[in-house]
Amino acid sequence: MNVQDKVALVTGAAQGIGRVIATALARQGADVAVCDINEESLQDVCKDIEAAGRKALPIRVDVSQLSECDAMIKQAVDSLGKLDILVNNAGITRDTVLLRMKEEQWDQVMQVNLKGTFNCTKAAIRTMFKQKGGRIINISSVTGAMGNPGQANYSASKAAVMGFTKAVAREYAHCGITVNAVAPGFIQTAMTDAIPEKEREAMISQIPAKQLGTPEDVANTVCFLASDLAGYITGQVIHINGGLYM
Ligand code: NAP
Repeated sequence: MNVQDKVALVTGAAQGIGRVIATALARQGADVAVCDINEESLQDVCKDIEAAGRKALPIRVDVSQLSECDAMIKQAVDSLGKLDILVNNAGITRDTVLLRMKEEQWDQVMQVNLKGTFNCTKAAIRTMFKQKGGRIINISSVTGAMGNPGQANYSASKAAVMGFTKAVAREYAHCGITVNAVAPGFIQTAMTDAIPEKEREAMISQIPAKQLGTPEDVANTVCFLASDLAGYITGQVIHINGGLYM
């Protein structure tokens, strides 16, 4: 899974799945721009990337703002020389049942998960178009395919990311840009650690593999899609969920 000397940019890279993806890409040979709204926490992931012998560039960004995404891509290209791989990973939840869901909770999730993916992709596509190649990997969710009670906003945003992925894949396949999504199931992160033990056990009992996934499971698939091995794969949604949704 070679991404030797490629330049990658990962959003939401300060922690969780994004941090593991950024570090995995560096271990496979890429320089990585690590971008997050939470700038302070980017220092640790930069150390991990540099320990793997690659360049790290921390950038503070709010992906819901197009102007900030434009500036982020420009800074990455100016500093690292090009942009080969974009991983749209930044995402939030604002969970509650529909009866209690406030308009603001709906809007916040759409702004970050869906508009953020649009903003970063729009900002990056011109550079990739000029380079005649690139890899865009969007982090969706199993809930975008199967729904989840208490997550109407989140599930809708992640389903929309799948549609966006397929449309952009069709637009840019002719110039060597692939666009794919990965849809993780329940992954062991701070988010799932916070779920009460009883609920967690109920969740795990629904998974045929009888265990949560790891951020590394997601990162391995992202590294594959980012690599030269995956050049003929585009417009796909790869599910990583231990059989929870087939
Ligand atoms: P996480 O631990 O909350 O990490 C997400 C990162 O994105 C955080 O550092 C967060 O900063 C940052 N972020 C939030 N809003 C942002 C914005 N507007 N601009 C830039 N950065 C922003 O989440 P995770 O569990 O690793 O999830 C990563 C991705 O995988 C998300 O898209 C999520 O929907 C998806 N996913 C996760 C699971 C799972 O089980 N964990 C399953 C399926 C899909 P703050 O902490 O300051 O908000």
